[in-house]
Amino acid sequence: MKFIDLRSDTVTMPTAEMREAMANALVGDDVYQDDPTVNKLEEMAAEMVGMEAALFVPSGTFGNQLALFTHAKRGQEVIIGKNNHIVVHEVGASAVIAGVQLRTVDTDNGKMDPHVVEKSIRVDDIHEPETGLICVENAHSVGTVMSIDNLKAIKQVGEKHKIPVHMDGARIFNAATSLGVDVKEIANCADSVMFCLSKGLAAPVGSILAGEKNFIEKARKKRKLMGGGMRQVGILAAAGIIALEKMTLRLKEDHENAKYLADELSKISGINVIFGRLDIDMVFFEMREEIISSKNFVDKLFEKNIKINGIENGEYRFVTHVGVTRSDIDYVIKCIKDII
Ligand SMILES: *Cc1c(COP(=O)(O)O)cnc(C)c1O
Repeated sequence: MKFIDLRSDTVTMPTAEMREAMANALVGDDVYQDDPTVNKLEEMAAEMVGMEAALFVPSGTFGNQLALFTHAKRGQEVIIGKNNHIVVHEVGASAVIAGVQLRTVDTDNGKMDPHVVEKSIRVDDIHEPETGLICVENAHSVGTVMSIDNLKAIKQVGEKHKIPVHMDGARIFNAATSLGVDVKEIANCADSVMFCLSKGLAAPVGSILAGEKNFIEKARKKRKLMGGGMRQVGILAAAGIIALEKMTLRLKEDHENAKYLADELSKISGINVIFGRLDIDMVFFEMREEIISSKNFVDKLFEKNIKINGIENGEYRFVTHVGVTRSDIDYVIKCIKDII
């Protein structure tokens, strides 16, 4: 039975081409750096984001935490947006793995103000922790994209104070699609970048951490420490190569479908679409419990073969991806009208 799954772009399935490439992948022991398919993926990834080197890691959380662990020393402080994934959705790992303290700052829907960042940098004082890193998130999982000017201004603050910038770019290709720029332009505004192959790009597993050669060499050893030294992992990297070569080129379609979905939802009375956060493949909207309870809405749509998440922080989030077509959206809209 086919479901239309709007819960996330992480639900995307590997394409037939990926499965074939995985079955036929040349492999070796990647801990010896002997896996030709992993080596190819890492070279290709580094080249695409305009960085010297890249490392294949099991997940986005792993890549972000590895970046913190590699950039910062124990007891240092990391300046980061208060609603960033690293703060909210990574199980407090930065305290456990890197042993850093997170200094959260307010964001404007995920966008960080460079002045606020600069003011949050600690001074040389016996009482204060040292600031070791600045983290930005782009695209942000609230559905927004930071501009190149905004990112550059934060990078300049980092350079002025000799503090590196890490970018959680889980959806950096969505950000590039939204801004209409080469992904290099975005990655250029950071010293390291993490991005996911397993979200809208449809690979089954894996993320990339990219940065300077020296940084990636250190990260490779720390990846081993974290238990992420993988063996014949070219099987997975083969799908990642197709994710980068092919799937990055079609994200525009997902963004257009998100806009279409938002427009159609907004025509339904009782639904308030948040148009200010519609930069990527995510549609956020509000609908009062008096119209339908969250549980009822989830269950009723499930009966019609549509999967959604329940309300979170007063909002619903629908995500478009390669598994959701225009006619799927028409069907979803029809079902919602019938239900409410
Ligand atoms: C999904 C996501 C991650 C983490 O990726 P996982 O592979 O789920 O660990 C990190 N940052 C952002 C912004 C994300 O959306």
